[in-house]
Amino acid sequence: MSDITKQSLTELVENIKNKKLSSTDVTKAFIDRSEKSEKLNAYITNDFTSALDKAKKFDQKPNFDFKLPGIPMAVKDLFCTKNIKTTAGSKILNNFIPTYESTVTENIWNEGAILLGKLNCDEFAMGSSNETSFFGNVQSPIDKNLVPGGSSGGSASAVAGQLTPVTIGTDTGGSIRQPASFTGIVGLKPTYGSCSRYGIVAFASSLDQAGPMAQNVKDCALLHEVISSYDPKDSTSIDFKRNHYGKELTNNIKGKKIGIPKEYRVDGMPKEIEDLWQKGIQYIKDCGAETIDISLPNTSYALPTYYIVAPAEASSNLARYDGVKYGFRAKGENLIDMYEKTRSEGFGAEVQRRIMIGTYVLSSGYYDAYYLKAQKVRKLIKNDFDEAYKKVDAILTPSTPSSAFKIGEKTNDPVSMYLNDIFTVPVNLAGLPGISIPAGHDSKGYPLGLQIIGKAFDEQNILNIAYAMEEKINFKNKITDWWIK
Ligand code: GLN
Repeated sequence: MSDITKQSLTELVENIKNKKLSSTDVTKAFIDRSEKSEKLNAYITNDFTSALDKAKKFDQKPNFDFKLPGIPMAVKDLFCTKNIKTTAGSKILNNFIPTYESTVTENIWNEGAILLGKLNCDEFAMGSSNETSFFGNVQSPIDKNLVPGGSSGGSASAVAGQLTPVTIGTDTGGSIRQPASFTGIVGLKPTYGSCSRYGIVAFASSLDQAGPMAQNVKDCALLHEVISSYDPKDSTSIDFKRNHYGKELTNNIKGKKIGIPKEYRVDGMPKEIEDLWQKGIQYIKDCGAETIDISLPNTSYALPTYYIVAPAEASSNLARYDGVKYGFRAKGENLIDMYEKTRSEGFGAEVQRRIMIGTYVLSSGYYDAYYLKAQKVRKLIKNDFDEAYKKVDAILTPSTPSSAFKIGEKTNDPVSMYLNDIFTVPVNLAGLPGISIPAGHDSKGYPLGLQIIGKAFDEQNILNIAYAMEEKINFKNKITDWWIK
């Protein structure tokens, strides 16, 4: 069968189940394409040899009851994988081999999938362009000058470039939705507590969530069904009744009320984004749903709040990397000297910036003025959504304030880099689910995404809305294969 890598996850599962394809065929095809993808720099570690072994084993004794039977899959290098190097894109974890598996990846392998390798990401998931990785930046399969977005940039490039049928990323402030939007794919950030954080290298624990990234909404729903589970090993995991997100997917959204928040019309937003949003509103109406103007008055405080809360939690989480417990250790004249050298050589510039900001806002003199204040504002942002959801079932916004920017364009200007997260961070602060779907192209032909934000635990609803819209949008990604060796 030709063009295996062009098939969606759903098609591959079907073709393996009805024996038109073997797991070995599929795994080989994705390995071949991945081997030609060096220029994208999407992989940090590959596990191709053992992937092929596992595929052969699967074919000898196939189990078609699995949801992902013999499906190869690469994952973001922030998920701990037992006996396989897990770096979080950092020099400090360059030699870290976990002795345990993250719950989310375990759920994936338990449904029959096979690990292809570990995908590049911003260092400790801090970034919006995949340029902070110790292992070098990732390029977009759309255009060699473009960033793929971040921090799950390797994941986005790998799905858009068809190196893996689907993948998982993590989203603390937009790291699934923003790169999905930049590369023309679908990315879901689930409700906080839906997917276990056990075994995910921590960035900001009250915001981090794992989620699926896929070529289309159906694949995204299927993978979400696999990864979302209650996990007693994560004290913030929530025991709620999960849907069969794939099976229950429907494009019937007639009568749904979708909010359009006026505060997302930010200063300086390109007309193309506004036009895309208007098109989105029309698609919603074409699907038989209704749009309602709403207000989320504290939206403009979300970004400053996020850039206090996230670094504060990061500075505390990253205290564990001291050269003793994990990974890289620099030589020092005494213990303190060793700590200092390990941390200043092991962490990159962006991570050091976050640790400094975080330590500052948590320091006794500034805690009340910054951290405590930010927590209060966070609650107000959450209240805005609660208020809005008295009137609407979901909210539609653009995913990002621009299309993908050029490599190097924002590296010397962290604030302009942070501004890229303006539409995604409120969702994390409020713990809500949000999905980005590709919805059009800008004048340069680069993909643009729309975001649908749901009520807590209402993933099925936003997946359904995305599914209905996807049909109307009929998006075709412009992948040129410029990078094929
Ligand atoms: N770009 C944001 C940041 O740098 C979000 C990162 C993320 O979601 N992991 O913090």
